[in-house]
Parts: sequence; C-alpha cells; structure tokens
Amino acid sequence: MKERYEQVLHRISVAAEKSGRSASDVHLVAVTKKATVEDVRQLIDLGHADFGESRVQHFTQIEAQISEYIGRRKELGKPDLTTPIRWHFIGHLQRNKCRRVVQLTRLVHSVDSLRLAEELQEIAEKKKIVVEVLLQTNISRERQKTGIAPAAVEYLLEQVGTMPNLKSRGMMCMAPYNEDPEESRPVFERCNELFEDMKKSKHCEDSFNILSMGMSNDFEVAVESGANIVRIGSALFGDDAT
Ligand SMILES: *Cc1c(COP(=O)(O)O)cnc(C)c1O
Repeated sequence: MKERYEQVLHRISVAAEKSGRSASDVHLVAVTKKATVEDVRQLIDLGHADFGESRVQHFTQIEAQISEYIGRRKELGKPDLTTPIRWHFIGHLQRNKCRRVVQLTRLVHSVDSLRLAEELQEIAEKKKIVVEVLLQTNISRERQKTGIAPAAVEYLLEQVGTMPNLKSRGMMCMAPYNEDPEESRPVFERCNELFEDMKKSKHCEDSFNILSMGMSNDFEVAVESGANIVRIGSALFGDDAT
C-alpha cells in the first residue's frame, strides 16, 4: 500500500509540475469503492485524509467502520490524526438517499440536476448546515454518463447561488474510458475552459475554485489540463478487491 500510495503521489507531483503548479496544489481523493476497510486504515496510518465513495450503501458502511477505527486508534497506541478524515461523495445521487450523504460528507462532487440541488438545499436547511458541492458536467455528452450539459452549467450555477445552504465550490467531470489517456485530454481541457469561464461569471464567489477530474487511467492528463482534485481507486487499491 505504501509503495502504491507513494507512486501515485509522485505521478501527481510530476504532472503538477508539468502544468506549472506544485504538488501541493493537487489533492488526491482515494476512492474506496473497491477498497477493504483494512486498505483504508492503512492509508489513514500513512497520513491520508481524503476519501471518496460513489455508492451510498458502501459509503455508509465503510464510513461507520472507519469512524469506529478512528475512535479506537488511541487505544491501539497510534498517534492522533493531523487532519480529520474528509469524505467526498462522487457518485450519482438519488434524491431519496441524500439525507445520509449530506450529513457525512465534506464535498458532494456529483450535483447533476436542479432537482438534486433543491433536495440537498432542503435537507441542509433543516439541519442548519451548509453543503459544499461541485457541478458535474457531461462534457463528452455520453448517454450513459450523468452530468449536466455544458450549456446548462451557468444556469444551474445561478440557481444554486440562490440557495442559502448550498455553496458551489467548482466542477467535476469524467472522461469516457480510453486505453490511451491522451484521448481524454480534449474532454479535460474543455472542462477546464468551462470552469475558467464560470469563475468569471457573476454567479461565482472566489471559493468556486475546485476542478475535480482524473481517475486511475487518466489522472496525469487531467492534472496537466488543470485538475486540482483527482479521484483515484484502482491505482491505489487494485482492481479486483471487493
Ligand atoms: C470509481 C470512480 C473513480 C475511481 O476510478 P478508478 O478507475 O478506480 O481510479 C473516480 N470517480 C468516480 C466518479 C468513480 O465512480
């Protein structure tokens, strides 16, 4: 695990430097959907704090197991965490499942419709919290992918701007899977352009500054294209774990 983790961090930092930034400008979210609880514990022991899940059921399970582990670390004689664990929700979110997610996540990467935003607003208002979100865009317009059309992003941003308990922090996109990560470059570059355009729009505050793109097979290209969060599962945890 240590070796894989360091290798991924190294590849991120090389790609960051290639794009004229430093490694600390790009954050790694470790995607746990194929990870075991033991894998996640090991990453925590290595000092990692950002974890992401795409399925609500697995999310609530693993989050509970990990928070139990965090509580037990002192007994186990492990040092205090320097940074509290931050959970990211990265998958398609059904409106009837928002409640659990809202309470436990630091950032929802996958807001892909006005109705979902409205649902999140309603829950956040009741709980008197502010939920930070990214707008997920379907740049490549693949049918099977969720995400709003690029042309609709500004409207959604404007709407979210009127919701007092939601805060838009940026955008997220996924490229179609390609053997050759270079094929993803135009998608990531287009998303970065849209992100830069939106930053200039009057509906955005300075805190609209997160661009989440890149997975195990294409994260270097994503970082070179401007991503400041990458979401990586199999390169850390392997492909075949369940
Ligand atoms: C699974 C998943 C990832 C990570 O994919 P890997 O190819 O395993 O790195 C990233 N983002 C989303 C939205 C995912 O569902």
